[in-house]
Amino acid sequence: MTPSTTDRGRGGSCGGVLGTLVVVGAVIVGTLVVSPDLQLSDLRDAAVDPLHGEPGSGGDGYTFLQTTARGEPLTWPCEETVEIVVNPEGAPEGYADMVGSAVARLSTASGFDLEVVGETADRDFADRGFGPVLLGWADEEEVPALAGPVAGIGGSSYVQGPGGGGHAVGGMVVVDTEETGGWFSRTDPEAVLVHELVHVLGLGHTEDPTQLMAARNDGQSELGEGDLAGLAALREAACS
Ligand SMILES: [Zn+2]
Repeated sequence: MTPSTTDRGRGGSCGGVLGTLVVVGAVIVGTLVVSPDLQLSDLRDAAVDPLHGEPGSGGDGYTFLQTTARGEPLTWPCEETVEIVVNPEGAPEGYADMVGSAVARLSTASGFDLEVVGETADRDFADRGFGPVLLGWADEEEVPALAGPVAGIGGSSYVQGPGGGGHAVGGMVVVDTEETGGWFSRTDPEAVLVHELVHVLGLGHTEDPTQLMAARNDGQSELGEGDLAGLAALREAACS
């Protein structure tokens, strides 16, 4: 299915059964908007990026991208390695170190075990089901959700069972080849990766502009207190 123009859920039905869990198959994604132009970005936020996480979910400085029917945040199983495959097409120079650094930082910060397991030619960013998280670079012609000042999108596919529980089973991160690293951009490319991978783990956007999970990046490069509290909440939900 074609990515939507907002960061609400995108289709990608991949009917199937894993144990008692039924795949509902949506890839829930969030975007990160860079801010070379405040006015344009403000419009962009309002027009294209209404999802600041699930309303009412989360806590101080963070939201959950989606919660299950039980009201728990959708995230990865406690003991599972979040495997990531990288498609290097269109990647910036030094991408492998940058991805490795982002993954290591987020593993440490979150308690989840994220690992780059290899490279791939797969570019099916729109339709993710079970499998490793696909991380790559594209332009808005290939991935329309990257149109405008969107630096990247990221999210997970998930299963949800008849009992109302659920967890992530796959996902994607795609970074806009045209929005980061330019002379006008204050956005740290590695921070974009961390932001999108946090979406993959299950956090949405926060209205606190000082957090890395703010919808608009005004130069934040580090995870803030709200981001860290949100990651801790995901981890607690996964492992309790
Ligand atoms: Zn985002």
